[in-house]
Amino acid sequence: MAARLVPLGGVGEFGANALLVEHENGEAILVDVGVAFSDLEPFGVAYEVPDFDALRHVSIQALLVTHGHDDHARGLEDAVQAFPGVPVAASRATLARLRRAEGVPGEVQWLELGGDRQLPAAGFRVEVAPVSHSIPGTVVSRLRGESGTLVVASDFRLAPSALGETTPLDTLRGWGDAGVDVLLLDATNALVPGPLVPEATVAAAIEEEVAHARGAVVGVTFASHAGRFRQLARAALACGRTVVPVGRGLEETLAVQAELGGLDLPPGAVRPPRALTRLPHEQLLLVATGSQGEPGSGLARVAGDAVPGFRLAPGDVVLHCARVIPGNERRLADLFDHCARRGARVITAEERPIHVSGHPPRDELECVLRALRPRVVVPVHGRRRQLEALAELARGAGFGAQVVENGAELLWRGGTVAPSGVHRGIGRLLVGEGDGAVLDPVTLRQRRSVAAGGLVVATLAVGTAASAGVGRPRVQGFGVEVPPEVRRAVERELAEAVQHSVGTGTIDAEALRSTMSRRLRRELRRRLGRRPSTLVVVSEC
Ligand SMILES: [Zn+2]
Ligand SMILES: [Zn+2]
Repeated sequence: MAARLVPLGGVGEFGANALLVEHENGEAILVDVGVAFSDLEPFGVAYEVPDFDALRHVSIQALLVTHGHDDHARGLEDAVQAFPGVPVAASRATLARLRRAEGVPGEVQWLELGGDRQLPAAGFRVEVAPVSHSIPGTVVSRLRGESGTLVVASDFRLAPSALGETTPLDTLRGWGDAGVDVLLLDATNALVPGPLVPEATVAAAIEEEVAHARGAVVGVTFASHAGRFRQLARAALACGRTVVPVGRGLEETLAVQAELGGLDLPPGAVRPPRALTRLPHEQLLLVATGSQGEPGSGLARVAGDAVPGFRLAPGDVVLHCARVIPGNERRLADLFDHCARRGARVITAEERPIHVSGHPPRDELECVLRALRPRVVVPVHGRRRQLEALAELARGAGFGAQVVENGAELLWRGGTVAPSGVHRGIGRLLVGEGDGAVLDPVTLRQRRSVAAGGLVVATLAVGTAASAGVGRPRVQGFGVEVPPEVRRAVERELAEAVQHSVGTGTIDAEALRSTMSRRLRRELRRRLGRRPSTLVVVSEC
């Protein structure tokens, strides 16, 4: 019996985690449906999501969502549209979050996993174990089938979470005793020696910074990090401050937590942003989203004076309680500068232990490897460097390791995996800012080319009546400077081309447009030495 594993995202990159586990009979389980930050943000792309439609030929039997982080779960709307009627399995806390996700239809069949509740799908029995991570309800999963046993352990860590959740090493040892063939393991911190700073140290450092702040405090963290929120809130309450969450994602998280039993904070401790105008500035602790500097996030609005009733002032402190996901450094540095200009002191997790990663460093990875004793480790959740570092660590500990990147199919049989040589990668959809609509490649190409070289527009009015004739072509540049003498010369050239084209008889607007386009491009190249985008509009009147 052979099965196939295809990492569709999340290996060789941070983000867009999705793994296809396919039985020989063609049935499959999709583990995680994440999205990724996009390099195309300057062109209005908010994030990228795997093109799940490309898997329509695969008989997906279930979607398993390991936890609610965007890089594992935010593509759920697209996935349930691509696979209608397919059940979605997750822990209770993850389901509470997913059910509230925008755009996910109400008729989805939700399956709660945990305890003894297992999921039979695609010839596998799926079970999960709750683990410590930076969002409540995270699980690692074990899939057992004819081809053997697969454990997916991304994301998690061994040290208890800020909310006190633990990773049951005994359960993992039990899985190890029963035999694990393939372990997909979290490579995020494969270059970090460990041990991690304990959460108690993080809580104490936050408390100290909050207690010493003269003005308001803004704690910035991942919107889903309920544990970090609670640490910040407790630090605020310890010195008589009021907590105000800023950012929609955080409000979502608090609503989910309320549904799950709350965060054990006294009533009235957390006030809505509209209360800001009535509360004394120096008694405030804002918890803001935007730990990666996302436009429109809580931090972006705080730094830009766009939160009604609140302005950063000298004496204020901004605590960046998060890690910086590679690629977001510059955007964050800009926002921190905005805060500094307003007199606020910015403290990051590099300077003080006000955040700790939810992923396992090397010492924990070694411990997990010894517990699970897999035949082969496939590093996931990292760029190539992290993947290679984890593979080396696994080999050093006496285990097999196989590094692959997105789209590489692994054949899983006889208790081991090897690349089949088949590439089964799927594309990415680019989700636009604002309306969340998918940006088509042509639109994106146009945006990029206009951004790179500007746009020159030529217009021409033509009469529809036989006697009406044609007007004079007009040329105008957008985002590209066209000196007046060049503009007039190009207009003359176009007029000549138009005269030549219509000289022979009836007016064909489409033929005119294409003649003008060719001439316009040629003349701009010749006279400006550049190739801006061009647009010719022939209007009939
Ligand atoms: Zn992740
Ligand atoms: Zn995560």
